[in-house]
Amino acid sequence: MTMQETSPAPAEVTLDRHCPLVSCGQEVVRGERIATASRPGAGDIHAPFPGKVLHVDPYRIRIARQEGKTVAPAVLDGLSGPELLTRLRELGADIPACAQVDTLIINGVDEEPGLRSRRTLLAEQLDTLCAGAEALVRGFVPVDAVLAVAGGVRESLPDMTVKVVSDQYPQGLDPLVAKTVTGIEAPDHTLVVGLETVFHAGLVMKTGLPVMQTMVTVDNTARLIDLGVPVGEILTTDGGTIRDGDRIVLGGVLRGRAAASPTQGVDRATTCVSLVRNPAPVAMDAPCVGCGECVRRCPARLDPAMITSYAEFGQYAKAEAEAVDACFECGLCGYFCIARRPMLQYIRLAKSELAKAKAQSGEETQP
Ligand code: SF4
Ligand code: SF4
Repeated sequence: MTMQETSPAPAEVTLDRHCPLVSCGQEVVRGERIATASRPGAGDIHAPFPGKVLHVDPYRIRIARQEGKTVAPAVLDGLSGPELLTRLRELGADIPACAQVDTLIINGVDEEPGLRSRRTLLAEQLDTLCAGAEALVRGFVPVDAVLAVAGGVRESLPDMTVKVVSDQYPQGLDPLVAKTVTGIEAPDHTLVVGLETVFHAGLVMKTGLPVMQTMVTVDNTARLIDLGVPVGEILTTDGGTIRDGDRIVLGGVLRGRAAASPTQGVDRATTCVSLVRNPAPVAMDAPCVGCGECVRRCPARLDPAMITSYAEFGQYAKAEAEAVDACFECGLCGYFCIARRPMLQYIRLAKSELAKAKAQSGEETQP
């Protein structure tokens, strides 16, 4: 029997307000910059595979995966301060834009139950994390640098205080980790960076190449996956099947985003890929029944019912007045909503529309 070679499905790179630099039919080499970021702190995007660009729109770039060359490594020696941070963003690390950082907190606690990517990074990629942490300290020059970890984690990073925080949900989310570490709610000049960002910065520092891999939890174990690999391919590699009605979730079940399709590629924000079989009950645009459960559950002490009602009807300025920006997207309001309203989706819509309006008026967003 003759084995017939099949070419892999195209890689798909997701754009999040990035400006594409390539057009259909263009050949790209691995690591070539293919889109520039337009949001403060967001990294640029590079071709994770060599090949031919098949499709470009404002939301994605699709590349036929082929054999080919990789770009030459960048030279980062001697860089420090804002110059180093800018270079890291150009090479694909999402380093928040923050003018003054007195306390830098690296969050090594997995955000949701079931996620293992941060714990695995600490166990298996410590050298790269050390390189990334050293670069962030050289870039931000904080007074204090702290690594926050869950109980039982033994690894540490050089010149960083280790603080053990609870991994009981939602205590591992950035704003609550900042409060645990500093003792202050929403402390000034404090920046919390997720461990995957430190890993991405470390990859750049060690290789001189753009970020082209990330650590992803699949089936309760975490492994390194090339960016752009279709999420459907990840879920079906070991004989798994995706049926009509199933939903692919990127991230945990409380805060994750539904993938647009199985062809959507892994991006730098993807910490987990999972398949939810026939999700039920699904969220729907049902009216709020005023039970007040979301208000009682919100750890940020917001009024999610009001915020989401404003967002539902496009009243984004009113959602802003209700402090939608203070929501740290834990997803508990949606989890407990008896009307199954898509709470987190409304909140993300309001935030995105407000950010877009600010960008259009030229107002910078600072963390
Ligand atoms: S997602 Fe909902 S419960 Fe969580 S902080 Fe935001 S408004 Fe509050
Ligand atoms: S939990 Fe749902 S139904 Fe109850 S007040 Fe909040 S939004 Fe309304």
